[in-house]
Order: sequence, then C-alpha cells, then structure tokens
Amino acid sequence: MCGKNVRAGEYLCSSCEAKVIRIAPPFCEICSEPFEGSITSAFTCANCAHRTIYFDGAVAAYRGRGIVREVIHEFKYGRQIYLRHLVARWLRAALDDERLRDVSLDVIVPVPSHPARKRERGFNQASLLAELLSAQTSIPSKPMLERIRYTTTQTALDRSERMENLHNAFRLRKKADVRGLRVLLIDDVLTTGSTLSECARVLKRAGALSVHAATAARA
Ligand SMILES: [Zn+2]
Ligand SMILES: [Zn+2]
Repeated sequence: MCGKNVRAGEYLCSSCEAKVIRIAPPFCEICSEPFEGSITSAFTCANCAHRTIYFDGAVAAYRGRGIVREVIHEFKYGRQIYLRHLVARWLRAALDDERLRDVSLDVIVPVPSHPARKRERGFNQASLLAELLSAQTSIPSKPMLERIRYTTTQTALDRSERMENLHNAFRLRKKADVRGLRVLLIDDVLTTGSTLSECARVLKRAGALSVHAATAARA
C-alpha cells in the first residue's frame, strides 16, 4: 500500500508483504482465533465457548491487522476493486489449510450484504471473492442467501449484541436449494463468527449437509 517498489504482478512491496501475519497454531478449532503459548490438545477459545455455533469450522489464514486490514479496507470502502485479487489469495490460503483441504465441498456461498449497502458500495465484497475462488477451484459459486435486515454496523457491539442484531437478518433466496449440499461460506473478515454462524444456521435449517467457512482474515 506504500506504492513503492512493487514488482509486476504483485500488490505489495517486500517490506509490506513481510508485515502480513500468517496465523500459526495453536488456534481455536472453531474460529481460528490464535492463542499465545503452547497447547497441544484441541482448544476452543472464550469467544466460542458457551454458545451455539452453526458452522462446522471457520478458517482464516491471516491476521486482519496492519497491512491486511488496510488492504481489505481499501478494497471494500476505497473502491480499489483490483485488490480483490490479493484478498482472494489470502482467502485461498484458508481453503488450502489442512483443516479445509480434505473437506468435500459442493457449492461456494458468499455472505450477502443488504441491497442498500451493496448499492452504496457498488458491489458485495464476498461475492467478488467467491467468484474468484470458484474460478480457481471449479466449485460453483451461488448466491443462495439474501440479507433482509439492514443491520447496524457490528463493530461496536459485543458478542451477544451481535447475535441479537443478526437474528433473522438472512434468509434463503427464492428457488435456492441447498438440500444435501456441502457448503463453503465466504466472507472477507471473521470477527466474532456471529455472521457466519447465523448464515450457517439458515443453510442447515434449509437442509445443507455441512457448512464450513473461509475468510481472508481473522480480525
Ligand atoms: Zn510497501
Ligand atoms: Zn473460537
């Protein structure tokens, strides 16, 4: 993002690239939250304990801080749509992670944004990412969900407020059929996992066999 010495075909210079933080184990097996220290057994973080999570696992390969956060912000709000290729590369790393590599997937479903927000932004970031991932993997991408409530921004809310805010915010699109399908949900950033969980709840209630999630970054 510094715009210096960027090689052709790349988006970041080598010093910015070095600041992209890969999430390394140990991390929460449900939401990828990294954990300091050494834990060898399976581990669930405080964010995921004591709540019902509807997805089968969410993987993010990169920490959504610093340069990663900046790039995603520019992509979403700064109309720098070309940055989708870099964000999709981070997303691809999540799909190639050992937790997702061997999972069978039938369809990629982007987390939808509300029509009003999509209008103001001109695109839905998750759809753009889902299309790129679909082209790379040959797994079809289908917008199976729609957002029916304009939720206020989640940023200032805590976990239970987020869940309340999201309740019934999504529904299956008319004519969408997920029965018996193994779904990969796509979004740019995983924060608490509430959005992904709410989408997974709707998909499973509609008959999806499994719902995994991949995001480009973990906030
Ligand atoms: Zn740079
Ligand atoms: Zn967790």
